[in-house]
Formats: sequence, C-alpha cells, structure tokens
Amino acid sequence: QVHTTYTYVTPDHIAPMYRRRKQYSHKGTYGHIMLVGGSKGKIGAIVLSSKASLRAGVGLLTSYVPYCGYNIFQTAVPEAMCITDPDFDCITEVPVVLNKFSSIGMGPGMGTQKESQEALKDFLTLYDNPMVLDADALNMMGKDPELLDKIPENSILTPHPKEFERLLGDKEYSNQFERLELQLAFSKRYNVIVVLKGAHTCITTPLGTVFFNSTGNPGMATAGSGDVLTGIITGLLGQGYAPVEAAVLGVYIHGLSADLAVEEVGVQAMIASDVVSYLGKAWKTIE
Ligand code: AMP
Ligand code: MG
Repeated sequence: QVHTTYTYVTPDHIAPMYRRRKQYSHKGTYGHIMLVGGSKGKIGAIVLSSKASLRAGVGLLTSYVPYCGYNIFQTAVPEAMCITDPDFDCITEVPVVLNKFSSIGMGPGMGTQKESQEALKDFLTLYDNPMVLDADALNMMGKDPELLDKIPENSILTPHPKEFERLLGDKEYSNQFERLELQLAFSKRYNVIVVLKGAHTCITTPLGTVFFNSTGNPGMATAGSGDVLTGIITGLLGQGYAPVEAAVLGVYIHGLSADLAVEEVGVQAMIASDVVSYLGKAWKTIE
C-alpha cells in the first residue's frame, strides 16, 4: 500500500521544474503536438486551447477541427497548422498517423455525438503516449466507461467537478474528503493523473501523490478558462515535461497568468483570452 503525500504547490516547487530554452535549439526541439476539438458553434474552444499551447512554448502545433472550423481557425491562429475532418459539424475519425505527435490534447468544444465517441475510442486505441483529455472527451467517457480502460497510461484528465461526477458514473460522495478519496482511487485504478479543477485545483497521481494549487482567482470562473489550461498542459507534455510536472506546472502557470491579468483587467471583466495574453508575464516570473 502506497502512502499518500500532500503538497501545496509554491514557487519553490515550480522553479526547479522549469526547463530553460536552449540557445542552439529550433522549433523541432520543443515538440509537435495535436489538439483535437471544436464543433459547430464551439470552434472558439479549440482556438483558445491552441493559442495557449503556443504560449506554453510548444514548437509546432497541428489542430484537428471539423470542416466548419477551417476558416475560423486558420484566421484566428495563424501560427498553427490545421487538419479538417470530412464532417462539417464535428470530429468523426482519426485523420493521420498519431504517434508522430509528441502529445495529443482532446476534448475542448468537441461535442458528444455518437460519431465523435467512435473517433475518441480510435484515438485512445491508436495513440501510445500520454494524452490530455478534457471537457467533452471526458463527458463521452462518462457515457461509455469501457473507454476508460483504453486511456494511455499517465494521461492527464482535467475535469471540473461536474465532469468528474460524470466520469465516476453512479459513485456518489457527500463531502470534499470523500471526493478526494474517489479521485485518488480513480488515478490509481486507471493509471492517470487527475486534475480536478476549481479554486485550489487538486491534482492526484497513480502513485498516490496529491498536489493543491496555490494560484488562480474567481475571475477564472468564465467560459473558456479550462480550454486554456488544456492547451498549456498539452504544450508542456509535448515539450517533454514528465506528465506529473506538465500537470502541476501547467495548472500553476495558468492560475498565475490569471492573477497577473486581474491586476490590469479586474476579476469582473476578465475573459479566457486575457489568461492567454498574460502567459508571457507569468513565464517571466520563472524563466
Ligand atoms: P472550465 O470549467 O473547464 O472552464 O475550467 C475552469 C478553470 O478556471 C479551471 O482551471 C479552474 O481551476 C479555474 N477556476 C474556476 N473558478 C475558479 C475560482 N473561483 N478560483 C480559482 N480558479 C478557478
Ligand atoms: Mg472546460
């Protein structure tokens, strides 16, 4: 039986995780990731994730969106490459060989159509490295628990509390401590890192470590906040950060960026795009 350890993440934990960019490096040094998501009416979600992954320092990004998202996406994120699904409205298939990507993030704005659920299953089966799974990717797993056993080990799941409840299926909890026990059990059972989002986001690992984040503010309780986090964590994973470090550092920098944004914008007016914009200032505190 592994002993549970608890860590409240401070700047002292974060500083040694950060990897300085090397002088003789090129974009290939910093990974090539794929982000999968968006659906008709929700292309903004994958736009936000994509911008955030670039601001997390990834070298190359290919985003995979339904056909309706092509013009929107390429206009909004000129730095990214884009592959489109043959379907106009949603993701229905796996487009290319997946294992050339250094990580894959899936779910923002994806919708939960039957065809998308089939595509999710194929992504989970065909990709051999840790993935980041968020939003509708998690909602679809809640509907079909068989998918949970297909998740590549050490993948990072980023549910908000409602998504976590859906993932758990019929299991119920009556307080935050019981929820933490279920979260730890889930991490161990499926060999995944669970990032349970909220004020003081709680991260659990398969080895029974618990991290509580120290950054962030209620200005983040706004549409698209979580999509930004998905991009950041996928970007870090794709640069070669170990999965636990990608999760802990990603959650920390996401909250720190929001804390810096709030100084200028205030909690009331802050939107997810502001969190993307302030990532540079957040990184500057540790680089
Ligand atoms: P989502 O619900 O997927 O958009 O994710 C919301 C994001 O904002 C997560 O990263 C949460 O941790 C963060 N967040 C939401 N509300 C708060 C809050 N009151 N304090 C700190 N962070 C928050
Ligand atoms: Mg979300």
